[in-house]
Amino acid sequence: MFIEKFHRITIVGLGLIGGSVALALRRAGYRRVITACGGSRGIAAAKACGVIDEIETCFSENRPCESELVYLAAPISGITEFLRTRAHLIKRGTLVTDAGSTKREICAMAEQSVGEGVHFIGGHPIAGKEAGGFENADANLFDGAAYALTPSRISTPEILEAVSNLARSLGAEPVVVSPEVHDRTLSMTSHLPQILSSALAGLVLTNNELPGGLCLTGSGFRSMTRLAASPWSVWADIVESNRDYIAGGIGKLEDQLRKIREALERGSPEVREEALRRMFEEGNRAVSGSACDSGPSRED
Ligand code: NAD
Repeated sequence: MFIEKFHRITIVGLGLIGGSVALALRRAGYRRVITACGGSRGIAAAKACGVIDEIETCFSENRPCESELVYLAAPISGITEFLRTRAHLIKRGTLVTDAGSTKREICAMAEQSVGEGVHFIGGHPIAGKEAGGFENADANLFDGAAYALTPSRISTPEILEAVSNLARSLGAEPVVVSPEVHDRTLSMTSHLPQILSSALAGLVLTNNELPGGLCLTGSGFRSMTRLAASPWSVWADIVESNRDYIAGGIGKLEDQLRKIREALERGSPEVREEALRRMFEEGNRAVSGSACDSGPSRED
């Protein structure tokens, strides 16, 4: 089994994603040593149930790290800070990857900080939940999910191959894209939906013209606003590190909505019909899956 070649794996940030990685590694049959740091409550629970073997202390004690694979699953700002201040403790030959939801800042920091002979590639498993923490970790979280890998100047073909295999061991499907394309795409497919969901839920909840507003909601409203349950603590770093592309996406959406509003306010019935029908048909095509045909290449 591919992952057995690592004698020791360290996970930095044992919350929802880091914990799910540890559980998925165990599910895949990994019996060697997993250590973890960051996330004290989760770490104690994970050690008690045998998901991890040891609490990793090398980084807090400023000692070289003995692991052959270091998986960074802290919040985005925690990952960049870790790379800035702790990358020098990672020995030559180690594979380093991360799970951060945006990639440009992390990959740029890795390029500046990882030492000669340390292999880094950015990653992002596109799977998750609204609720974080190790208590919500799930061995099956990545099953069938896309797993973005974002090679940069310091990523070798060997690490691309190795982390692709790691993603497959977790149950996911590797997809290779540049950090820029990743962040631009996710601004539209993940970050904009989150902002729309939060905005819509807030608008309906706080709108005094809709007495009893939320009593008159059905499954459509619940589907559209499911993401509004996400905590800001998870999103703060994502929005901050991708604000240029998110603002660009909001601009494009505003243009589209403005055209629809103008058709509704001033258009003839034919203009309205044309504008709205085109929007619905484009949406139908997009969700039928055909829109993925020209997307980023899947790495097999
Ligand atoms: P989480 O809050 O569940 O877990 C983060 C863990 O990191 C916690 O245990 C926390 O104690 C620890 N931590 C915080 N600051 C740290 C630091 N400076 N150094 C080390 N550890 C630190 O969050 P999560 O949902 O597991 O997200 C982790 C990463 O995965 C983030 O970078 C996020 O962008 C990314 N991600 C999240 C999802 C999702 O749906 N939640 C999906 C894909 C990727």
